[in-house]
Amino acid sequence: MLEAQVIVKVREGLHARPAVQFAKLAREFDSALKIGRGDTWADAKSAVKLILLGVKHDNQIMLRAEGEDEREAIDRLTRFLSDAGAMAQGAADQGAPAVNGHGTANRPSDAQPMPGHGLWAPDTVAPMSASALRGVPASEGLAFGSALVYLREELAVDRQFVQQHEIAGESTRFAAALESTLTALAEPGGGAAQCAMGSEILEAIAQIARGDDYAGAIGDLIAAKWSAAAATLKCGQDLAFAFESLTDEYLRSRADDIRGLTRAIAAVLLGKQQRSLRDIGAPSIILADELSAPDLARANWRNILGIVCLSGSATSHVAIIACAHGIPAVLGLPLDKERLRSVSRLSMDGSSGDVWLDPSDEHENEMSRRIDAQREQQSGLLAYRHVEPGTRDGRKIQVAANMGSLSELEAAQQAGAMGVGLFRTELLFMERQRVPTEDEQYEVYARLARAFNPWSVIIRTLDAGGDKPLPGIRLPKEENPFLGWRGIRMSLDCPEVFEPQLRALLRAAARGNLCVMLPMVADLEEIRRTKAIIGRLAAELTGAGIPHAIPKLGIMIETPAAVLTADLLAQEADFFSIGTNDLTQYIMAADRMNPRLASLHKTGHPAVIQAIRLVCEAAKRASISVGVCGEAASKPHMIPIFVNLGVDELSMSPNSILRAKKVVMEMQPPGEG
Ligand code: PEP
Ligand code: MG
Repeated sequence: MLEAQVIVKVREGLHARPAVQFAKLAREFDSALKIGRGDTWADAKSAVKLILLGVKHDNQIMLRAEGEDEREAIDRLTRFLSDAGAMAQGAADQGAPAVNGHGTANRPSDAQPMPGHGLWAPDTVAPMSASALRGVPASEGLAFGSALVYLREELAVDRQFVQQHEIAGESTRFAAALESTLTALAEPGGGAAQCAMGSEILEAIAQIARGDDYAGAIGDLIAAKWSAAAATLKCGQDLAFAFESLTDEYLRSRADDIRGLTRAIAAVLLGKQQRSLRDIGAPSIILADELSAPDLARANWRNILGIVCLSGSATSHVAIIACAHGIPAVLGLPLDKERLRSVSRLSMDGSSGDVWLDPSDEHENEMSRRIDAQREQQSGLLAYRHVEPGTRDGRKIQVAANMGSLSELEAAQQAGAMGVGLFRTELLFMERQRVPTEDEQYEVYARLARAFNPWSVIIRTLDAGGDKPLPGIRLPKEENPFLGWRGIRMSLDCPEVFEPQLRALLRAAARGNLCVMLPMVADLEEIRRTKAIIGRLAAELTGAGIPHAIPKLGIMIETPAAVLTADLLAQEADFFSIGTNDLTQYIMAADRMNPRLASLHKTGHPAVIQAIRLVCEAAKRASISVGVCGEAASKPHMIPIFVNLGVDELSMSPNSILRAKKVVMEMQPPGEG
């Protein structure tokens, strides 16, 4: 028996695709092969067991081989694990859009709006009826139309067990059902196959499905006289449970994919025609209790106006695929199944998560008007692209872009963004489903700095936590995650995450006008400690002869503590940017995710405005700039208020920029409006 200790350098760790490749390589050897992490050991030839072991980049693992070719096996497997590039780039590195709790997504530029299908402008429709429900905003856009109720039919097995002489037949039936289902999923014309993200997901699912832990386990049960359908449902459920028990949000989402595939195979075996999203005859909004990537793989995207689902989160693949197709989506809608069955029409706002069931004609007319108005407004606004707006009393206002991914760069430049007011780096982490390396981060930050030079590009350090769980970072379960270990608090406790990010930022600062911003600051010490780290890292970079620059260091004003100590913080910070999303929730003590508190979650509330006024005054006294980068920055009725309070910069998603420039240009001087 041979053992070797290895530090895993495969960039993604043994996530889905690398695990499949690793297991494939392991199966080339006759020796028994095991991989151990801590006290847990897994069969190295089983992709699923490897995934469940949760091996990450830089983890130390043990390889154990026993058999004739053990030496060669250890050598080749060690080489695989030690090579960062052993695995081709992951699915998420291929330009898939970033997703976060507030739905930042770009419609592909060639996609045409459809009738009844909203623009992707981030405007939220003001609630038009008291009956709006609010789910998780997963992909931006407005839509209304017929509901296509997509419910999981119960798949009851007709026979649990079969006779000895039927075993071979059941095996063949299962193999055929598995292959026909996988072929159907991958068929050209299936929506998922058209988008890189979708096809990558399907490829990984297919590899797992054909492997020992799925097809193999089902084969074993069939050999023990289980019927093919019963074996499929049992093993599919077991595997889905195994994925669900993982702490990694991304891997947990794979449970839905396994369930979707299992249902599809079982339906074939039971002779039940599953309703397919490929057969949608007329433009509709899908209203589902559960949806998985395989369900969407069958979809006829031309006829999908929107997606509303009772389950799912912003990191589920349904959200990722919807964003890639530019289809509005609201997931996790709090609605009971019985009510769902009876819905015939609905309207939705993918930016706010609002959904209206069976809306009145009046509501639909209003929604239609808003969609048309947005469309018209958007084309009329192009005249403002090169405008650098100022107020009538001569103040320049910088209208910048909020971004989370390079895929938004073109849209931001098209809209005439005057730099980037907020780059949410956590979305880079989500895109990759792991912590990006220093070099990967540097590439992105440097590209942005170059693209917008001489305008400033404000990169926010990681804001994990709250509603933003991140793959690759183990966040503790907390009673109150929004009051918990998030933003700068987490970064300062995790130098292994914070320092590579800061180093990448210092290096990129040499490439343009790059500024660094800290999220969730509540205490002066958080800025001072960050500055000390930056000083040390800069000295190390100098020592190593690596080009870099010390960027301006600003902070987000999101906590009441930051508002009340703004004068003090302004002594240490080079600029302020007001995060009205969080500031409103903390000032009003109203959870920004709780739909019941929507009426309290108003940035225009006098308490929030007073907080913003204090911050602007403190910034003015210290002669530092102050911006707003929460959702309210793009709202036409809020823009004059912010500008009149002394805000110098408004940052918003690219598709609101032109309108914001216009609003500023048309503002009346204070007192005349
Ligand atoms: C905010 O809180 O306003 C903000 C811009 O940050 P996020 O929405 O990413 O929490
Ligand atoms: Mg915030």
